[in-house]
Amino acid sequence: MTTPSSALTTPRQGAASAGLTVAVDIGGTKIAGALVHPDGTMPVTARRPTPRDVDADAVMAAVAEVVADLAAAPQWSGAARCGIGSAGPVDASRGTVSPVNIGAWRDFPVQARVAAELARHGAEVPTVLVGDGVAMTAAEHWRGAARGHDNALCMVVSTGVGGGLVLGGRLHPGPTGNAGHIGHISVDVEGEVCACGGRGCVEAIASGTAIARWARAQGFTGPDRTAAGVAAAARAGEPVALAAFDRAGRALAAAVAATATLVETDIAVIGGGVAAAGDVLFGPVRAHLATYATLSFAAGLEVVPAQLGTDAGLIGAAAAAAALLDS
Ligand SMILES: [Zn+2]
Repeated sequence: MTTPSSALTTPRQGAASAGLTVAVDIGGTKIAGALVHPDGTMPVTARRPTPRDVDADAVMAAVAEVVADLAAAPQWSGAARCGIGSAGPVDASRGTVSPVNIGAWRDFPVQARVAAELARHGAEVPTVLVGDGVAMTAAEHWRGAARGHDNALCMVVSTGVGGGLVLGGRLHPGPTGNAGHIGHISVDVEGEVCACGGRGCVEAIASGTAIARWARAQGFTGPDRTAAGVAAAARAGEPVALAAFDRAGRALAAAVAATATLVETDIAVIGGGVAAAGDVLFGPVRAHLATYATLSFAAGLEVVPAQLGTDAGLIGAAAAAAALLDS
């Protein structure tokens, strides 16, 4: 069911994206930056821990240090654009972020502040802000498992569940940068209330947090009661652990099938810490798809692991910049 696009996928990009991209990836534990070549290599990288228990400007100071490190490199003069990926929620229409795991930033104007740091170092270049789910999607479409697919859903399943969409060969961030946020669609209309205020959300069933919580509630007593511990027990055949991953896989399958039915995605790429469980997760997802992806046009749906690892955030920020600024 693969629909290869023409020579180049996300970076509509590719050769059109001359010059280096400044990539900034902001998360709850680290702030990373890189200068990224059009081929995806990163000749210069920098990182700082995300400051905790400080005010908004102190968090921004760490971002400024990362930019300064990049600006000190001889390649800096080739910077042509900047992509900023951030933990969400983001509002790309206003350039602001309110990351759940960075309490000091609420409606923080990160895009304007990063642009000011770039300008301070002589790089007055266009910038774009995307959420981390959209960034991961851009990364997987450009250089990972969704490469060559014009219609793809990419998901991050870790402590939360996020995602993004490629539609018609293009990254589809939506007006505020949140399209494809599959963790908060409902797959259980009478389910538990989710942290977002909704009910029966995918995240409330399939996140690592939810898997571990459900397993413990069902009597799971392994030595490591985190999602990773439940995954290890499932691999060893422990029944409660297997049931916890089966339940999560079923929720993910329902969401993946709904997306395919709605917009004709032909592949779902799943990354994140919980996806590292491998077949323990992917087996149930694929098995349950038969129940939910029933119409002919959705029946050939593939579900595959993400290919980009630790650098996905930076690659994704760069890919999003090329995709959204150069098109
Ligand atoms: Zn929710």
